[in-house]
Amino acid sequence: MTRVLVLNSGSSSVKYRLFDGAETAAKGLVERIGEPGGDAADHRGALQRILESIPADGLAAVGHRVVHGGPDFTEPTVVDDAVLARIEALVPLAPLHNPAAVSGIEVARKLLPELPQVAVFDTAFHATIPAAGVTWAIDAELASRWQIRRYGFHGTSHAYVARRTAELLGRPSAETNVITLHLGNGASACAVEGGRSVATSMGMSPQGGLVMGTRSGEIDPTVVFHLHRVAGMPIEEIERSLTREAGLLGLTGENDLRAVLRRRAEGDPVAGLAVDVYTRRIREYVGAYLAVLGRVDAITFTAGVGENSPDVRGESLSGLEALGIAVDPARNAAGDTFISPGGAPVAVCVVPTDEELEIANQSRAALGR
Ligand code: AMP
Repeated sequence: MTRVLVLNSGSSSVKYRLFDGAETAAKGLVERIGEPGGDAADHRGALQRILESIPADGLAAVGHRVVHGGPDFTEPTVVDDAVLARIEALVPLAPLHNPAAVSGIEVARKLLPELPQVAVFDTAFHATIPAAGVTWAIDAELASRWQIRRYGFHGTSHAYVARRTAELLGRPSAETNVITLHLGNGASACAVEGGRSVATSMGMSPQGGLVMGTRSGEIDPTVVFHLHRVAGMPIEEIERSLTREAGLLGLTGENDLRAVLRRRAEGDPVAGLAVDVYTRRIREYVGAYLAVLGRVDAITFTAGVGENSPDVRGESLSGLEALGIAVDPARNAAGDTFISPGGAPVAVCVVPTDEELEIANQSRAALGR
């Protein structure tokens, strides 16, 4: 098996990367799809553009990132008509994320009918979380009828960095417990026990848990009732506010943490509070997952913020020395792979994520190649 094309289709963009083994043979982004002056009129045009720009020979499969796999898709799945229909049926569970993946798959099947298409789900890695970790204490009949439970996301990233962490520690993945912190525009934490997800911070959608660029993360559901009943906001407006105008953006007016950190350095107390809210929430989840796992070998930071911000890494784990967790300031500032002091009981690591590579590998595995 030679080349795998990985597609990450969003509502207005398609990110692509062509793999030759583990090597990247081509990559790029088609943006502002359907907008005036954008790169393509629709997803079909976007994929046509991508196929024109990559070498045509040796392509053996297409791997698609699909955000929501619902309760049934627990592993990468080769797409046929029935699978596509089931992914489409999940759109009500993930109205902001799944429609683009469905268009991406449909178009790829039309333009590349001879190639196998594999759907790789952000939720699948979390299928191993025990029932007690995905069940919310609401009316059980309602929950079951409407598929309400925790699913968890960023699964390809958590799986990849947890495995890399075990490799870096020189330990078998099956005997290594890791808390992975994926801190990018979206952010989530995951407790990985022996290579399997046993807890994660995102819930039914990528809205739960940690504070993000524009998403609130965890809030009391009464916030929604209150905004509707007392503030008179329609439900769509509340959804927009909590998903697109909340998080760091809601707190400071900036969704990019770099800008928030700059403002804090200039003495802005609003930015200072936002960073404290952001890092405290991470620390709360680290504490929760220490309790879930009982024994933790490593805590691993990844994604845009986790890979690049010594401030966030250091502040998120401050005050945890009594639990065996510490960050060495010099190693942290230098961006070393291991940022805990030598001999620390819990390794603290910085591991660049590679969701596309993981999707390519999982696509090959699903095809048995
Ligand atoms: P991702 O979604 O993984 O691409 O992460 C993107 C986010 O990472 C951006 O929105 C930035 O807020 C954040 N980021 C990137 N570099 C830095 C940095 N040096 N310091 C703080 N945040 C950063």
